[in-house]
Amino acid sequence: MNGDLHRPTLWIDPRAIAQNIAIARSRSAAEVIAVVKANGYGLGTLTLARAALGGGATQLGTTDLGEAVTLREAGVRAPILTWLNASGVDAAAAAEHQIAVAIGSLEELNALLIQHSVAPVTVHLHLDVGMCREGASPLDWPALFESAARAQRQNKIRIGGLMGHLAQADRAEPELNDQAVQAMLAAKARASVLGLGRLKLHLAATAATLTDPSTHFDMVRFGAGLAGIDPSGRTDLAAAARLTAPVVHSVWASEGTSVGYGGMYRSTHDGYLSVLPLGYADGIPREISTDASVQIAGRRHRVVGRVSMDQIIIDTGPHRYARGTRATIFGAAASGAPTLAEWASWAQSIAHTIICTIGPRVIRSVQ
Ligand SMILES: *Cc1c(COP(=O)(O)O)cnc(C)c1O
Repeated sequence: MNGDLHRPTLWIDPRAIAQNIAIARSRSAAEVIAVVKANGYGLGTLTLARAALGGGATQLGTTDLGEAVTLREAGVRAPILTWLNASGVDAAAAAEHQIAVAIGSLEELNALLIQHSVAPVTVHLHLDVGMCREGASPLDWPALFESAARAQRQNKIRIGGLMGHLAQADRAEPELNDQAVQAMLAAKARASVLGLGRLKLHLAATAATLTDPSTHFDMVRFGAGLAGIDPSGRTDLAAAARLTAPVVHSVWASEGTSVGYGGMYRSTHDGYLSVLPLGYADGIPREISTDASVQIAGRRHRVVGRVSMDQIIIDTGPHRYARGTRATIFGAAASGAPTLAEWASWAQSIAHTIICTIGPRVIRSVQ
């Protein structure tokens, strides 16, 4: 029996990732930049990148250069774009590894230009089109565009694109995107007046890729969708990950027994309680409602009591499961297991936070 005892494992399905890219490509003629930030939405940066490229994505996107360099060092040759380098862009690293960087202010551009690099760094001008989180605000566009044009003429940088991000990135209401689309068109016109050359425009993330063609331009940045998450909840994507853990302990508890930290739950019936070796340190949200459940042997069973750091307790009622029996915490809807979306609602959060916070102790296994 102990031979069956596996460790908590996140099973990753590259075919599902490829299928999600195929869905994106059926909705948009634009090139797909597969966004593989946050440890590849929890699935592993390299795993997600390889599966996405295999499925038809032509470029990769990461938050910073460090993530991009890791991909290069693993042998990934596809174009990569990064958009948030907290301590500034390391021009030498960007040039050496041929990694494009989004630049969202004159200050950032100047900090790049004073560095020495063996070759011009490819820059995407990062524009605030309504989110107020990132990119240059429209008032600053003239100075940024002119300095960038000058630097390109001096062969210090190569301007590859114009990037915006939708404030309503999780909505499926095209009219909410209209102002951002107009801002991108205005930026494109400005770039063309300055003779910046043929630039790639990109604005859409997953939800807009799936629902709003007016935002697609030349490329779309598709991240959550790779993992099977449509933030707008409109499209059924393929679940790319399944989280399992073995039952490590099963006890009989009679009605009225207080269960877990603080006795937050008192059992309402006689029955078995089974313990799974996963807790909030592994990404099981401590805030889950009393509806949360897992699947064991095809049945749904409720999580009871407080989520501990490393363990959760499951009310398995009349069923005594042997040590090593595999429980599914989340998986594909068709399997009857809870989905990421259900966990998100139990935690009053979004599916992204569930998948991105699966801890490092959980084994990633590519199937
Ligand atoms: C995370 C991110 C994306 C991807 O968003 P999803 O909704 O996960 O597809 C795209 N662009 C930027 C700038 C991002 O930070």
